[in-house]
Amino acid sequence: MTIPTRHIGRFAPSPTGPLHLGSLVSAVGSYLDAIAHGGHWLVRMEDLDPPREEPGAADRILRSLDAHGLHWHGTVTWQSRRHSRYDERLAELAGRGLTYACHCSRSQIRRRGGHDNTGCRASREEQGPAAVRLKCAGGEERFEDLWHGVQHQAIIDDTILRRRDGLYAYQLAVVVDDIDQGITHIVRGADLLETTGAQQRLFRILGAAVPQFGHLPLVMNPGGQKLSKQNHAPALDDRRPSANLVQALGFLGFHVPPDLQTETPVAILHWASARWQRHQVDRRNREPAPIAQTDTGN
Ligand code: GLU
Repeated sequence: MTIPTRHIGRFAPSPTGPLHLGSLVSAVGSYLDAIAHGGHWLVRMEDLDPPREEPGAADRILRSLDAHGLHWHGTVTWQSRRHSRYDERLAELAGRGLTYACHCSRSQIRRRGGHDNTGCRASREEQGPAAVRLKCAGGEERFEDLWHGVQHQAIIDDTILRRRDGLYAYQLAVVVDDIDQGITHIVRGADLLETTGAQQRLFRILGAAVPQFGHLPLVMNPGGQKLSKQNHAPALDDRRPSANLVQALGFLGFHVPPDLQTETPVAILHWASARWQRHQVDRRNREPAPIAQTDTGN
């Protein structure tokens, strides 16, 4: 395990589609927060769920980050290459008697109005495919988010570590990776705020220091939904990276002066990293201001 000696941030996209403005906001926010604190910014490709992935999306995301001047430290970590590590940590938790097989299907859980932690933990049923759950429910987790302040989250359910279809669960992979990469600051979209308590508990159970969490505002569409592949958010146009950055920075509360707006992405990010102030970020989810028309994309 890396011992964190400095600020280490990360951007961890799932390759389910190309980057859109919402993902650019998370990438830029996590990048600036790390760079402005003299830290490193890592990129991790969360290619954990092949059925949900789009062929070519991972490479397209990396090309897009590069086109926007978002250059990461070191090499990209690929979750698809870390299965043996997830297995190792899962075996360790099982060895401590902290896991159990859960045979409940989604429809059963829905019918019962939630997962029955105690009944399921005690069940001797061995039929059919099973998820692996962590015995962790109960009480609450408290943390102070960089933008949302003190949060108290009840841990209602036993976290799934391995899904019924045999794939590693996002919660396990993300926490194991954040620990192994020595991440000190997790800056990401506010849609993940509600999963943070369960992740914090897993950090603790795995005996690791809990990073600082910060959840950035979500870019919404005119229908009031967060931009996502499901609601057909337009892919970023990599031929106009400067305009995209100006728009993402404006959304985060940093208004790039007109004479800088047509400069290179690297120059714009350099300007922004010298000015990054967390308190300037407006945490409200909302629609973005329209894209600047002056950009030449160089
Ligand atoms: N891979 C997750 C996503 O794209 C993000 C995970 C994280 O930042 O913790 O939604």
